[in-house]
Amino acid sequence: MVLDTASATSYLKNYSEKDGLSVQELIDSNKFGGLTYNDFLVLPGLISFPSSQVSLDSKLTKKITLKSPFVSSPMDTVTEENMAIHMALLGGIGIIHHNCTAEEQADMVRKVKKYENGFISDPVVISPEVTVGEVKEMKRQLGFSSYPVTENGKLGGKLVGIVTSRDVQFHEDDSDKVSAVMTTQLVTGQEGITLDQGNETLRTSKKGKLPIIDAQGNLVSLISRTDLQKNQTYPLASKSFHSKQLLCGAAIGTIEADRERLDKLVEAGLDVVVLDSSNGSSVFQLDMIKWIKSKYPELQVIAGNVVTREQAALLIEAGADGLRIGMGSGSICITQEVMACGRPQGTAVYNVTEFANKFGVPCIADGGIGNIGHITKALALGASCVMMGGLLAGTSETPGEYFYRDGKRLKTYRGMGSIDAMQQTKQNANASTSRYFSEADKVLVAQGVSGAVVDKGSITKFVPYLFNGLQHSLQDIGLQSVEELRAKVDSGDVRFEFRTASAQFEGGVHGLHSYEKRLHN
Ligand code: GDP
Ligand code: 5GP
Repeated sequence: MVLDTASATSYLKNYSEKDGLSVQELIDSNKFGGLTYNDFLVLPGLISFPSSQVSLDSKLTKKITLKSPFVSSPMDTVTEENMAIHMALLGGIGIIHHNCTAEEQADMVRKVKKYENGFISDPVVISPEVTVGEVKEMKRQLGFSSYPVTENGKLGGKLVGIVTSRDVQFHEDDSDKVSAVMTTQLVTGQEGITLDQGNETLRTSKKGKLPIIDAQGNLVSLISRTDLQKNQTYPLASKSFHSKQLLCGAAIGTIEADRERLDKLVEAGLDVVVLDSSNGSSVFQLDMIKWIKSKYPELQVIAGNVVTREQAALLIEAGADGLRIGMGSGSICITQEVMACGRPQGTAVYNVTEFANKFGVPCIADGGIGNIGHITKALALGASCVMMGGLLAGTSETPGEYFYRDGKRLKTYRGMGSIDAMQQTKQNANASTSRYFSEADKVLVAQGVSGAVVDKGSITKFVPYLFNGLQHSLQDIGLQSVEELRAKVDSGDVRFEFRTASAQFEGGVHGLHSYEKRLHN
């Protein structure tokens, strides 16, 4: 008997189960072998909205929500200030590595925090006695060239003028005082105005800077036109609610000296600290979390790495605001080979997030993210964000110079547990602890390799490619947000399927003589 086509969707009710597997079934049916991202797929759903409507808002920690769930890894070939600035501008966040002195790391944090502002509450101010030459030198060191001039040369002093690059650029006598070149006809804002009102004054007056003064004419703060432009260009930017400064993360170790390091980072404006350890379930890390939470209750702490519920429980109880999941899944990593410890990343992400999400502790899936599909799968398994090293390596915002080999433009990408990176840590007595060796170790045992990756261009193109790709991917599953993904995976509405080895082969490009893989325009 052939059924009536008009009854096709209602006929589905005759099936006791939806097609495919629930996430629980996916994991359970593979209980004796861990899953990686490539072992399964998500089944498609109904599309009834444009992909541009898909919200990727997701939590990084208990108190921080990002507009893109992307985090750059604290590795010395991935995240310094340039990467951190651009990750935050693009809606994610960068975690600055700690294979450097505390001062160097704090300086990088400061640069991220200073990059964009609402009210600049601590602007660099000069006195009328400062010379033109000194202003030119300040521009070279600080990167900006507009300075309010007050009688005493300090914030809170009476505002007498403003000096900008146009005032000094072509002024030949560097020994002249700025009082001779500064602009004294000032457009100012009164203390108490809102940022929107200040920005409106900047728009209508067409000035570059708006000094804010109190009733007595004393300088209180400054608003910059450049920030309005940055705001327009990067609408997704991750910012602190009040200061409108970009969010910045940094990694530290867990020895005594890391406490002093953290003091410096917090002073520079750090928003979130990542406790960088390959096995986060250690008494050192538990003590560190408790110490940070008592000294800096507002600072968000991401603990880890973990791959089991048992490890996660300890860190959650100690006060972690977020967890980082992964051991041995990184693209440069040989931990599983050398230490016999680790876990396939899909299984690790599912088991830890299934537990941590019950306590409202968001998790980052760290390592092994090689394409957009892996990001979708990490989120589908319960992660709130993904951390990427290799996928971002080779972009122009990473540290290091490009070089040519075999006709290809390359950059170095190395594991923090590679001999190269660990030797650099050892040589630099003031670098932070390595996550891969103890101070007393005479022989370094590598847990990572050092290699090269091809030029990927700027992350200002690459991260939007990840963002749009992820929107399309969720659209294909029939979901309008990461939040909906979480809810519908939990309810069993989002369905999964295993991939056999031949299914994986079929899912890749095959049967061609040759091809070029271009990922975006
Ligand atoms: P200009 O050369 O001073 O006009 O600098 P730009 O307008 O190119 O850059 C100013 C940028 O630096 C803005 O995004 C500010 O938020 C940021 N900034 C951070 N701290 C300061 C400061 O103390 N003074 C100034 N002028 N800008 C600052
Ligand atoms: P990727 O995104 O390249 O797959 O992985 C990056 C992640 O690998 C990092 O965030 C970090 O957790 C981990 N990692 C970095 N360096 C090393 C290393 O030398 N050994 C191991 N085992 N993991 C590393």
